[in-house]
Amino acid sequence: MYIVPEKEIGGLMDRAASFEAVQSVFAAMASKDAYNFPVIREAIGHADALYGFKSGFDRKSLALGLKSGGYWPGNEAKGMTNHQSTVILFDADTGKVKALVGGNLLTALRTAAASAVSIKHLAPKNAKVLGMIGAGHQSTFQMRAAVEQRDFEKVIGWNYHPEMLSRLEDLANELDLPFEAVELDQLGAEADVIISITSAFAPSLLDAHVTGGTHIACMGTDTKGKQEVEAALVARATVFTDEIAQAISIGECQHAIADGTLTQSDIIEIGAVINGDHTGRSSDDELTLFDGTGVGLQDLAVASSVVDLAIKNGVAIEVDF
Ligand code: NAD
Repeated sequence: MYIVPEKEIGGLMDRAASFEAVQSVFAAMASKDAYNFPVIREAIGHADALYGFKSGFDRKSLALGLKSGGYWPGNEAKGMTNHQSTVILFDADTGKVKALVGGNLLTALRTAAASAVSIKHLAPKNAKVLGMIGAGHQSTFQMRAAVEQRDFEKVIGWNYHPEMLSRLEDLANELDLPFEAVELDQLGAEADVIISITSAFAPSLLDAHVTGGTHIACMGTDTKGKQEVEAALVARATVFTDEIAQAISIGECQHAIADGTLTQSDIIEIGAVINGDHTGRSSDDELTLFDGTGVGLQDLAVASSVVDLAIKNGVAIEVDF
């Protein structure tokens, strides 16, 4: 088997390769060539951690395996990222373990790629203002990937902890974009694309905040009970997701489903848009929302790419196992 340590991932995987891997696997999911197994995610009652497994199989690429990991909110104070994950890949023909891959950077890259895929396929073509809600570890990956999809002229941002907004401002400046810290009503009115990436358990962005033909990528809600936007906003939008089963159980859709304002049949898999089976946005005035719950197949897709690159570049550690 091969080991690809976390420290090697940055030198191997980039945003373009992550985007391609994620876009392909979303398409394979919609055409039923790939499927995710049920997710296990538990509050373990220690260190405030959420821990679990995401897994699946892609019959097209033969990616088989799982990502083990979760979210340890106290890690940043210890100089570590709050997300800790590892991907294990198996040989689909024999079941033999194939590779052990560091999953921290890959998680950020594949999550940013997912919202970027949604922006590519669903955002208004002439989107100019990017609205960011959340200024944590994932937020900079999200912004970097998003700005590659449209000719944004400005970034506006809001965060529950305003002192963290300098992280967004610094990156916007690095990307040669002006940045403004705003309140949520201004963000909802001005932004053409909104990315929400927080660990919240109560909505920040309300239905009344959002006007016009906006695309919203809700990327933070990946666990039962979490919520970033008001359920009425989800109910009003044309809703797309990576996987419907996850959207209704652990994604942003769970709340509108629970209050009966959204039904499962209202939700469209983004892969159907990628495959050309759904038109996606139908007008500039439409409100579209992508519920990016984060599926195991995304992890397997990017990890498989990394293993190939690591072998090619001579940095994969081969172990007789
Ligand atoms: P982080 O801990 O670095 O940052 C957390 C962010 O949430 C900060 O901006 C913080 O100010 C904000 N926040 C905290 N409490 C809040 C509240 N009550 N209301 C509103 N905002 C609040 O976390 P991160 O690494 O940036 O990850 C953010 C979230 O994204 C996590 O919940 C994580 O589970 C989720 N995530 C989802 C996927 C996916 O595929 N969907 C992948 C990775 C991470």
